[in-house]
Amino acid sequence: MKLGRNDPCHCGSGKKYKKCHEAADAAKESSELAALQAKAEAEKAAEEAEAAEKDPKAAAAAKKAAARPSGHSSKPKERITTAANPIRRKAV
Ligand SMILES: [Zn+2]
Repeated sequence: MKLGRNDPCHCGSGKKYKKCHEAADAAKESSELAALQAKAEAEKAAEEAEAAEKDPKAAAAAKKAAARPSGHSSKPKERITTAANPIRRKAV
């Protein structure tokens, strides 16, 4: 249940919520949200650092791949084996 702004404050002061704890609650809520976000980000960073520690080669490769401009990859040529392809389409 949400407290109305004109209802008496939950702290028992007898004041209206908007005159008492509304601002404090809003600040607390947003700071809690920020703390949660910071925690999630820190956990993600720690996970990534852990993964990089476990597999430095993969981390280096990922870094390289990220640094390399796209469209200039030396990917091996795909060999299309048309003769071995069981599904042969008749040219129309
Ligand atoms: Zn209050």
